Amino acid sequence: MKYIKLVISVSEDYQDALIAELLEMEFDAFEQQDGKLITYITKERFNDVSREQIGRLLAAYPGDGYIQSEEVVADQNWNEQWEQTIKAQQIGQFYVKPTWAPGTAPEGTHLLEIDPKMAFGTGYHETTRLMLKLLPDIVTPATSVMDAGTGTGVLAIAAVKLGADHVFAFDIDDWSFRNAQENVIINEVDNRVEIAQGSTEVIPGNKEFDVVLANINRNTILELLSKLVSHTAPGGMFVLSGLLISDKEDIIQHQELKDFTLIQSIRENEWVALHFKKTN
Ligand code: SAH
Repeated sequence: MKYIKLVISVSEDYQDALIAELLEMEFDAFEQQDGKLITYITKERFNDVSREQIGRLLAAYPGDGYIQSEEVVADQNWNEQWEQTIKAQQIGQFYVKPTWAPGTAPEGTHLLEIDPKMAFGTGYHETTRLMLKLLPDIVTPATSVMDAGTGTGVLAIAAVKLGADHVFAFDIDDWSFRNAQENVIINEVDNRVEIAQGSTEVIPGNKEFDVVLANINRNTILELLSKLVSHTAPGGMFVLSGLLISDKEDIIQHQELKDFTLIQSIRENEWVALHFKKTN
């Protein structure tokens, strides 16, 4: 597969906001540098419309951001180079390690063997890191968990490591669906995690979960909100990530969340994760 590598000149102050937009345009990988954002997208998904859209986004930020260069690269090359830069890392109580990287989990941490998607310079994105930091406060033994937009399956696997009885995970994307299935086997939690392909229509009828997790993005979260809320058990926990700080107020005030109390909100750079409890 051929990819387009874009080098975008843009101040660090606006890089996270731009990444949130580019993710929705299906850009795959991001490397943040001083005043520069390097990003990749499959060749067939990139055209004049995307160029124009990026131009418009950049024009909306102060400063003079622009597309500095555009080049076609073969998948193989950058993927291999990128893999070598990803190291195992401790995130909260978890030790997250790509299958290809050396390292053993320090005592007291839960090992998660996850090959990051070809996304983000450091391997695991802030939105995932925030979820992993919150999870130990939220997932208690013997709970049922739903993971909306499971991606690599990382949060579903983490939930089982924290003692969850059963996790129902789903993802609309075919690659993620298959990747999550492989990862639950590698991490030996396939007996407790069920993975489905699709969006909220694949959630079993009237099932309510003790914990509902969704690390997706603002627009999709808003689209799925009423469904996600209705599958959260009374007294249960609802946790959102993939949001920018600027999205926080809108979400907290949302009508669908009137029966929810915000318990905790944590941030890393421009990203924020919100932990709610359903009061009735
Ligand atoms: N939960 C993972 C992945 C987050 S990326 C983590 O925390 O790292 C968000 C995922 O949501 C992607 O894999 C994307 O395919 C999926 N997604 C986007 N829209 C969706 C929808 N409407 N229904 C289900 N999954 C969706």
